[in-house]
Amino acid sequence: METKTYTIGGKTFTLDKQKAEAAFEAKRIINGKDTMFFNILPIKYHWAYELYKSMKANHWEPEDIPMQKDCEQWNSAEVSEIEQWIIKMGIGYFSAAEGIVGDNIIHVVRELVTAPELKLVLGRHAHEENIHADSLVYMISSLGLNPHECEAMFDDIPTIRKKNAFVVSNSRALRREIDLTRTENKQALARNIFLFGQCMEGTQFYGLFGMILSLYRQNKFPGIGQMFRYTLRDESNHIELFRNLLMDLVEENPDVWTNAFRDELTELMKEAVALEKEFIRDCLPVNAVGLSAEEFQLYIDYIADRRLEGVGLEALHPSTKNPFPWLAEMMDIRKEQNFFEGRVTEYQKASSLLSVDDDEL
Ligand code: FE
Ligand code: MN
Repeated sequence: METKTYTIGGKTFTLDKQKAEAAFEAKRIINGKDTMFFNILPIKYHWAYELYKSMKANHWEPEDIPMQKDCEQWNSAEVSEIEQWIIKMGIGYFSAAEGIVGDNIIHVVRELVTAPELKLVLGRHAHEENIHADSLVYMISSLGLNPHECEAMFDDIPTIRKKNAFVVSNSRALRREIDLTRTENKQALARNIFLFGQCMEGTQFYGLFGMILSLYRQNKFPGIGQMFRYTLRDESNHIELFRNLLMDLVEENPDVWTNAFRDELTELMKEAVALEKEFIRDCLPVNAVGLSAEEFQLYIDYIADRRLEGVGLEALHPSTKNPFPWLAEMMDIRKEQNFFEGRVTEYQKASSLLSVDDDEL
């Protein structure tokens, strides 16, 4: 029997070459081999496995972040009512949005993809949405907020309702048996992946992220700001996951990528941007955090263009510069040393210890 050796994460696997090649060949983003076995090896989509590993290395728990200073500030004259309102708005919007994203992964995307390594990384993605949702619970309980008041912001504000309806209706429509050999159905899935990854997580999250990080920059609510920074670091992996998923889906199914479909995705992004700008104009007291509404809207254009280019579509405003370079810097927490780095190392150590034990068994 001819064998083939794979080395992954310092471990070596030997597989029957013929079987491994057949399994590899049968792996597809969609319409791959249906199997009850979670055959991650041989890996075809290496980006998925690598993303899974880096997402796991970024693991964080809300309770690791102290909220004492936030609580002191919340009840003091240091913080204005508008600033409190921004925090409640952030908690209200993301409480709904994180759930909508997680739900779409579990009921739509993870259901329809066929390669196990894709299901693996999507499971981690869904879990990260749980961590984000849990961080909001932790904020609510630490500050002693009324959760229904935060929920009401989501229910009562028309521009938030519109933003959520924009994604929820698409996700609902895909919860059924669909024949993914038909181009129109493949396009429906591709549209869903673009909508959630690039329009929602990739663009529409950034209005409130910007508001909360502006407060953080002024030393307001350091615990909440820190949690949002970790959330943002996770979101950048989610955007990358869905970007890769779309690109490989299109590569394997070129019938999806017609000119009309590309235009449709661009239109979808335009709609997402219009909804986000409407939300910013109606709801976000940007002046209260020292920003201009005009620059804030330019920032959304700038982010949306990065998302479009990421999936090979043309930018809508190619000459727009990032009006908030500090925001990009604040989102980049890879280099930063802080109390949390020690903790991350601990998680990683714990898992490497486990694999040492494995080897000894
Ligand atoms: Fe999230
Ligand atoms: Mn996410």
